[in-house]
Amino acid sequence: MSVHMTFEEQRLNLVKNLKEEGLIKSKAVESAFLKVPREKFVWPDEVENAYLDIPLPLGKTRQTISAPHMVAIMLEALELRRGLKVLEVGCGSGYSAALMAEIVGSNGRVVSIERIPELVEFAKRNLANVGYSDVVEVILGDGCLGYPPRSEEEIYDRVVVTAAASTIPKYLKKQTKQGGILLIPVGGSWSQTLKKLVKISVDKFDVKDVTECVFVPLVESDEAL
Ligand code: SAH
Repeated sequence: MSVHMTFEEQRLNLVKNLKEEGLIKSKAVESAFLKVPREKFVWPDEVENAYLDIPLPLGKTRQTISAPHMVAIMLEALELRRGLKVLEVGCGSGYSAALMAEIVGSNGRVVSIERIPELVEFAKRNLANVGYSDVVEVILGDGCLGYPPRSEEEIYDRVVVTAAASTIPKYLKKQTKQGGILLIPVGGSWSQTLKKLVKISVDKFDVKDVTECVFVPLVESDEAL
């Protein structure tokens, strides 16, 4: 990436490439990518790399902010629109939460759970700096239990997990509304399949494979399985 390009130019370039690759398909996802400044979500020593289409380390936490192409694939698969209520497991930098907030708007809500306290602080700060604190609530905890933890009510229109699961946590299935979507990478440590589950009825899901992918592991407690 040329050092002479401004962040805005780099952002436009990234969106152009993701559209050409057929990964950004909808106007809603395109506008969100154009609006949210990724340079405000990467770790400070990675700012120069903010618009490279690769995952970047989040300091010494051993976690990463996902590559933009993977975020685009997930956002399209989620079929978001204004007013929806979303649960995210794995807030990390807060970047994907900000993009979702941009799409669901002020009548919607994004609840994003993160288990590492340092990242909860980082994400909260980033989201506040860019003006998404009213829509996104960042919570410290084990996202596999859903939010509120262990609730069996159908609370969310969309549930998205941004870390690799070995199995699909039961509370996340329960907390997805009927007709809603649960998006989750499932598989082993080195590769997973991004699964899109559409909830048909209480225990019935229509399952589709979206793409092969590689995420950092979801930390899973036995209780959540
Ligand atoms: N969506 C993020 C990418 C996050 S990487 C972004 O846009 O930056 C996955 C995140 O999931 C990591 O920060 C990791 O700490 C978190 N995580 C892993 N297991 C978790 C769990 N059980 N509950 C909540 N967060 C978890």
